[in-house]
Amino acid sequence: MPENADIQSVLDRAAAGGRITPEEALVLYRDAPLHALGQAADAVRRRRYAGTEHLATYIIERNINYTNSCVTACKFCAFYAPPKSEKVWTRDLDDILRRCAETVELGGTQIMFQGGHHPDYGVEYYEKHFAAIKEAFPQLVIHSLGASEVDHMARISGVSAEEAIRRIHAAGLDSFAGAGAELLPERARTAIAPLKESGERWLEVMEIAHNLGVESTSTMLMGTGETNAERIEHLRMIREVQDRTGGFRAFIPYTYQPENNKLRGQTQATLFEYLRMIAIARIFLDNVAHIQGSWLTTGKDVGQLSLHYGADDLGSVMLEENVVSSAGARHRSNRMELIRLIRAAGRVPAQRATTYEHLVVHDDPENDPVDDRAVSHISSTAIEGGTAHPGLKLVDAN
Ligand code: SF4
Repeated sequence: MPENADIQSVLDRAAAGGRITPEEALVLYRDAPLHALGQAADAVRRRRYAGTEHLATYIIERNINYTNSCVTACKFCAFYAPPKSEKVWTRDLDDILRRCAETVELGGTQIMFQGGHHPDYGVEYYEKHFAAIKEAFPQLVIHSLGASEVDHMARISGVSAEEAIRRIHAAGLDSFAGAGAELLPERARTAIAPLKESGERWLEVMEIAHNLGVESTSTMLMGTGETNAERIEHLRMIREVQDRTGGFRAFIPYTYQPENNKLRGQTQATLFEYLRMIAIARIFLDNVAHIQGSWLTTGKDVGQLSLHYGADDLGSVMLEENVVSSAGARHRSNRMELIRLIRAAGRVPAQRATTYEHLVVHDDPENDPVDDRAVSHISSTAIEGGTAHPGLKLVDAN
């Protein structure tokens, strides 16, 4: 057990802008007093955003799930169905375009195209869909997919990852969402996603994308039995690539949800572990601009707290979500509530673009939006009998 004085001196160095080692990060993550860790992380955030440190951002977006058919069978996933299962569904292009239209109608600026590793969907499928979306809705940013999907579609089409990225980028993909990172260290990853590409490969594909000018976010799935050392190793692997490319715009940890999957909730991250991860990510990832609090998996109160532990962004009003909600995430919100939550946490809310520019700064409550239709929807298509949340009401796209 390190001395408190040692811990404080590392926290002071980090708060003053110094880089810390993975070994120091592990000590802080495990042993630093929670509030001291949060204070140091908040100091790092304030310095990085000096002048706009009073703001916290959110985005309006929609996840569009095009199929649940997946050959990869991750043990934590409640969304997928094996390709020959009668539970497989796919969405046709008209359906996808209708969902895009609703996103625009509700003030959304981004879509996240997200699905399983369909055995037949190669690069051509994504080219066709991204081109159609961009043609119909050039104002929508396609922030979608990740290294896993790229690796899979490249294999189906018999091309390199580099060619796959060039082609889907040319067709309309703006940036990668960075899902599929799960846990990057080998033991922890193999334990929960044995058929997925390795963590090294996930990073390699992201690095190829960054070098082609396609930026991304990065994620971490917490709570599937990984060790503290593996969590820090995950951060180290991301920081090392980021030192070379600078292409990760944000880091977004979220927690494993325990329902309807093979892991059966036998392990879960606590909310304190989650807050500690937000804080240590802000301190350790000194080369990643944005740290996002995930209220969707941890709850709105923890989301608010994350803003005091180094997060500068509270994620999105997700107009549709099927993946983590299938595994038990039940938190919902709407645009007006997210604005109130951010303000109640002592910050000024700002709606952002995918690239984090501020679109609207809500600095006067008198001018807050009053349109309450921008609501997060839980539409659990993967749960038997569940096709949509009873409160799901989408506008008529026509
Ligand atoms: S997490 Fe993605 S790749 Fe893994 S089983 Fe679910 S849909 Fe398939």
